[in-house]
Amino acid sequence: MLELKSVRTYYGNIQALKGIDLLINRGEIITLIGANGAGKSTTLMSISGVVPPKSGEITLDGTSIVGMDPDRIVSLGISQVPEGRRIFPHLTVRENLDLGALLRKDKAEIRADLDYVFNLFPILAERRGQAGGTLSGGEQQMLAISRALMARPKLLLLDEPSLGLAPLIVQQIFEIIAQINSENGTTIFLVEQNANQALKVAHRGYVMENGRISLADTAEKLLSNEDVKNAYLGV
Ligand code: ATP
Repeated sequence: MLELKSVRTYYGNIQALKGIDLLINRGEIITLIGANGAGKSTTLMSISGVVPPKSGEITLDGTSIVGMDPDRIVSLGISQVPEGRRIFPHLTVRENLDLGALLRKDKAEIRADLDYVFNLFPILAERRGQAGGTLSGGEQQMLAISRALMARPKLLLLDEPSLGLAPLIVQQIFEIIAQINSENGTTIFLVEQNANQALKVAHRGYVMENGRISLADTAEKLLSNEDVKNAYLGV
């Protein structure tokens, strides 16, 4: 579905991605793990068009998306949940969700998707009239994921959804990620520092070091890989 070939991305003179090759098949959960500053967020932002690559190719179902506006990329079916959630704190839960569907015109389907996310996260239904900024960290993450789902993406990009959340909430978020994938068939690209949990929910994974992919394998094999265990799994 999505393919990256020799992607190189810069911030001014700083080269954050040094030639990334990556493949995401339809229906998969793929995780990208790695240390702080390895280039994980930059990989997501290169895909979503927020920080376009300087060279290389990114194709969605065979169509090049490099150089397209982020809005256009959303309308083609790629939605990103940025690190740190970034919901609109002064808008209500419902208004935040409506913004996720801004580029759509299919009113009945939008209504059905609203029901779907309220069913996924009942707490958001209870708080639909409340300002986003009054929600807990976990609830804001649920809202950020739901807002992205309101665009009805075929590929959902998640940047560190577990960051700063209590263990029980983290568990719940990972369960929901698996549920979204299995119920809807939504393809998911999950960037995580919580490598253990991410690999447990993913089908395949990529390990990133210093702007390069250093390892790619099934999640199961990465979980039992000695180098991965030592560097990222804390065992
Ligand atoms: P983290 O988990 O800390 O977000 P990451 O693996 O997602 O790490 P990136 O945020 O993609 O890594 O950063 C990759 C490199 O690009 C790092 O060296 C970082 O310092 C640099 N970088 C990221 N954002 C910027 C920016 N806005 N301006 C300059 N350099 C940046």
